[in-house]
Amino acid sequence: MRCFSTDFKAADMTLQTGRDYLAIPGPSVMPDRVLRAMHRAAPNIYEGELVDMVPGLLAGLKRVARTEGDCAIYIGNGHAGWEAAISNVFSRGDRALVCATGAFAHGWGEMATRMGVEIEVLEFGRQSAVDPAQLTARLAADPEGRIKAVMAVQVDTATSVRTDIAALRAAIDAAQHPALLMADCIACLACDVFEMDAWGCDVMVAGCQKGLMVPPGLAFVYFSARADAARETANCVTAYWDWRPRVAPDVFYNYFCGTAPTHHLYGLREALSMIEDEGIEAVWARHARIARAVWAAVEAWGEGGTVRLNAADPAIRSHAVTTVRAAPEQARQLRRWVRENAGLTLGKPIGMVSEDDPGGDGAFRIGHMGHLNAHMIMGALGAIEAGLTACEIPHGDGALSAAAGVLSRP
Ligand SMILES: *Cc1c(COP(=O)(O)O)cnc(C)c1O
Repeated sequence: MRCFSTDFKAADMTLQTGRDYLAIPGPSVMPDRVLRAMHRAAPNIYEGELVDMVPGLLAGLKRVARTEGDCAIYIGNGHAGWEAAISNVFSRGDRALVCATGAFAHGWGEMATRMGVEIEVLEFGRQSAVDPAQLTARLAADPEGRIKAVMAVQVDTATSVRTDIAALRAAIDAAQHPALLMADCIACLACDVFEMDAWGCDVMVAGCQKGLMVPPGLAFVYFSARADAARETANCVTAYWDWRPRVAPDVFYNYFCGTAPTHHLYGLREALSMIEDEGIEAVWARHARIARAVWAAVEAWGEGGTVRLNAADPAIRSHAVTTVRAAPEQARQLRRWVRENAGLTLGKPIGMVSEDDPGGDGAFRIGHMGHLNAHMIMGALGAIEAGLTACEIPHGDGALSAAAGVLSRP
């Protein structure tokens, strides 16, 4: 009796079937707990459980950012948060200094330009963090204090370069300049350490779809009392983006200037309780360890190969995302191989071409933010190693054992 067929078609075999890992730097992997929390009937938006849970969500969001300041929630992506932050701080004709370490500060600055703010860019390239000394020097040349705010990105998701936000505050203070400090932490909140109050940050923008593990759709704008004083006179602010009613609404409906993002709030509640259960410092430590495992693997591949970490100095590397430079065609082949053969999706390069490095658009990015543990990152690194081999991309040996070594040691 034949129990099974032996004439299966090996040619149709794929190694892709299984649980996918979307390792692009956002949206990140969504925990089943978050998805299950969102899978429910529409709740009442005027009273009951949803209304009762929002103050607790705001308290949780503030704990994640280490602030006792305010947090406004917007229905939108990170760009919505950018626009909200700009509109509450600036009047048309105000000046801002944008510190650029990749693609995203430019995007935020261009948005401000379109809203009537005069932008000046301090450019730090694609492989360096913001240099606080240059910031101090620039602000010292503005004795009248006409620059209203310094805008910086904590982790640029294109370059994976991380800037020390506390050092920017120190740089502003060293120039005895009144500028507000505005930070984009969209890529890295709840991944890289961030201490809003201790670091003297006035405005911080985040989104829910990266370290916070919720599907895209919520933006958070945190602000200090100093930033709210700027809001008093800001004439860019419009009814929808005004942060004031959103932090102290007369009725619940006005927390969101309209209907609440009901299911996102349930997802967020679950994600925040996962973070609280683990402890934010343990969450940071997990991201740090996983990031070091990724770096160890890439460094091993780079021995005798062409792939290399974009940020040479470990002190300026993000714990949320890693940009790996590689020859453009090889990077493309690798991304395709792991997607089609291993269920792993890596990030594309963005904005890596520069005059000093014209071939620089060759890169892939590994998102390691949010819901991620040791076996997931080892699986991703193993898939990349298989892809490097399959695509005949020269690379050094020992990447997986180097990564495992990092994970195994405190
Ligand atoms: C993802 C990201 C953004 C843009 O967020 P969207 O949700 O795509 O609008 C902005 N800044 C940084 C640093 C990011 O990582």
